[in-house]
Amino acid sequence: MLNIVLFGPPGAGKGTQSENIIAKYGLTHLSTGDLFRKHLGEGTSLGKLAKGYMDQGHLVPDEVVIKMVEDKISSTKETKGFIFDGFPRTTAQANALDEMLSGLEMKISGMIALDVPQDILKERIKERGKTSGRADDQDEEKINTRIKVYLAETLPVAEYYEKQGKFQNINGVGKIDEIFGQISKVIDSY
Ligand code: AMP
Repeated sequence: MLNIVLFGPPGAGKGTQSENIIAKYGLTHLSTGDLFRKHLGEGTSLGKLAKGYMDQGHLVPDEVVIKMVEDKISSTKETKGFIFDGFPRTTAQANALDEMLSGLEMKISGMIALDVPQDILKERIKERGKTSGRADDQDEEKINTRIKVYLAETLPVAEYYEKQGKFQNINGVGKIDEIFGQISKVIDSY
């Protein structure tokens, strides 16, 4: 089984590259941002709870995210593995994921981080905001908050996987196909 954490700041290209990985390796996509947006669209109580945090560019509390991921993993039958996109975003989430997977006799194969400088991230998010309809993509202040939250709370997750010898950094600037070529090389080495 291949279980990959695709890591990087907002706007790094995780969604785009997840699609490529799924098409080539047949993995199950587990994007916590997409799951929250689905709940929001369906007006569930989880969606309503998450909305307040998402609209401000803050993280949804760990226990809420972890429960949602547990539900998704346990309800997925017959998969070649998962691509975790936008999760884990805190070291508490990374710990919970390791525990969850070991209980199922599964493990993370590796983390692939997409490295993109801040000025390019901001441009990409604003460009995406023109068509994504995402409130959190359209406001400079919220974009800045998301990047700050990433640096303060999410970046330590890279170190978490580095300590396990599972971290690979990739240049996330350039042609989508070329970046995907680099990602594929890493995945093929697992
Ligand atoms: P994303 O689509 O991954 O950029 O996520 C959009 C928003 O959903 C984030 O800004 C957070 O408010 C929330 N979110 C998504 N994934 C997580 C997570 N793993 N932990 C906490 N909040 C999350």
